[in-house]
Amino acid sequence: MFYFSKSKYCDFKQCPKIPWLKKYKPEEYVIDAETQARFAAGNEVGDLAMGLFGEYVEVTSFKPDGSLDLNKMKELTKQFLAEGREVLCEASFDYQGLYCAVDILKKSGDGYDIYEVKSSTSPDHDVYTVDTSYQTYVLRKCGVKVNKVFLVTIDTDYVFDGTLDLQKFFKITEITARVEAEIGAVEQTLKEAEKVMASPNEPAIDLSESCNAPYPCAFFGYCTRNLPSPSVFQLYRLAYEKKLALYRSGIHSYEDVLRGGVSLNEIRRRQVEYALADKGTHIDKQGIGAFLKTLTFPLYFLDFETVQPIIPRYVGTRPYQQIPVQYSLHILREPDGALEHREFLGRAEEDPRRALAEQLVYDIPEGVCVLAYNKAFECTRIKELAKAFPDLAAHLFAIEKNIKDLLDPFRSGYYYNRDMGGSFSIKSVLPAIYPDDPDLDYHNLEGVHNGSEAMDLFPRLKDMPADERAKAEHDLLKYCELDTFAMVKVYEELKRVG
Ligand code: SF4
Repeated sequence: MFYFSKSKYCDFKQCPKIPWLKKYKPEEYVIDAETQARFAAGNEVGDLAMGLFGEYVEVTSFKPDGSLDLNKMKELTKQFLAEGREVLCEASFDYQGLYCAVDILKKSGDGYDIYEVKSSTSPDHDVYTVDTSYQTYVLRKCGVKVNKVFLVTIDTDYVFDGTLDLQKFFKITEITARVEAEIGAVEQTLKEAEKVMASPNEPAIDLSESCNAPYPCAFFGYCTRNLPSPSVFQLYRLAYEKKLALYRSGIHSYEDVLRGGVSLNEIRRRQVEYALADKGTHIDKQGIGAFLKTLTFPLYFLDFETVQPIIPRYVGTRPYQQIPVQYSLHILREPDGALEHREFLGRAEEDPRRALAEQLVYDIPEGVCVLAYNKAFECTRIKELAKAFPDLAAHLFAIEKNIKDLLDPFRSGYYYNRDMGGSFSIKSVLPAIYPDDPDLDYHNLEGVHNGSEAMDLFPRLKDMPADERAKAEHDLLKYCELDTFAMVKVYEELKRVG
């Protein structure tokens, strides 16, 4: 029998090779931190949405080994439907090997409505129509009368007032018409999928728009394994569609780019030329000098770490709002002075913003020059703090107004070497300038090596035993400290060459 699930069906619609590779070459599946976070967010929001319509029965059942007990779930679903239960969560259905679980199934008249829960803020993605059309198809084949289909997404206008209001946190959008227009295609798609999945031969499918939409495909590394490295897919900030157009016209390597006379902006041309020949470091002394002249002393190097809870935890915040929880600050009072360091780490049990804002205005006087790397992030956080705490606003705005961007000299093409590989993030620039300095290597940090890990760790602090928590807090502080120390070192290099 042909077995297929909702997620495989959605994968197949994105690209038939995805479910085939998952089945025959699962070791090639590379899941990044962002995708993992998206899955975790989906589970968190799914659990919360169960209470959207009041009382409900949950069908989810597990085997002793912790895996889902699908047979039990299907049995329970039948039982609850026979009992006429009003709201079922994770109701599970199987029609001749086609499986699906419905997030929320709600009685309506003589049938049921499907509510599909997404952690997204928009109901407008085509993949949601594909997903719910499959569910509707399976349920109707199982004899369930599906009347309407809804998407449950998150309303970012919702402001948390201390008590989570599910009716306002979630936004419900009816998509029945979209589903009815799509459902006719389900049977034919399943026939094609059955053929593809039965064959041991990898589908001959070339790279396409599907490799990047709705999400970057986890098999992209596998499917581009025969391309030269670097390839056109590494060109700096070029839209995926343009990279794909180059690829389709036979331009794959950087040599092809030059040979083919591809029009490149200055930054990409340098990226290509420096990758093909080690030309050392490109330095625009004038540009760097002009940038350095805009800086004044004392000079402050600032970096925030944030969390971004989907379900707001702090009064006055919205879903997905970036909440600053930590900062590191290095200070140079004069050009060759000793380096000072200040830092802040909030308590995970409470809203850290007020304490952070108070210490920030204590640590940074009004009117001094502050450097951030990609300053839009720090400036936006400070403006949000000013809005939240009007009594500190004047001082916070005075800090924000004087922030300069250490990314500018790199983004402007004043400094480049091939090890940057076309990326100007501090994580690329730092090792390209200081390749052999273990003190500047994020890999040598304990516990926290990047912003995603910091974001994941901070909310868990409150549940940790004291010694584990002390270690985790130490790791967070060290990580953030390296971010601003890295900025100091980058600044020193600009000063050396500028
Ligand atoms: S990378 Fe592209 S071609 Fe390869 S499986 Fe993914 S979507 Fe299909």
